Amino acid sequence: MIAAGLCASCRHARVNQTRRGPSYLRCLLASVDEAYPRYPRLPVLRCAGYAPAEDPPAGD
Ligand code: SF4
Repeated sequence: MIAAGLCASCRHARVNQTRRGPSYLRCLLASVDEAYPRYPRLPVLRCAGYAPAEDPPAGD
């Protein structure tokens, strides 16, 4: 388990597992915005790009 801070619940985060076991977290936002690191230093405690992984249910 990675102590990822905000990245743990961010829709832009992907956790990649290596064959030998360790995993690392990649920020997909980095591929479209160079302001974000591809491999953020964890835990991320503040991030302007943070977006919750799931949208709240749509309402009327
Ligand atoms: S946008 Fe920020 S919080 Fe989201 S994965 Fe990238 S670094 Fe983490």
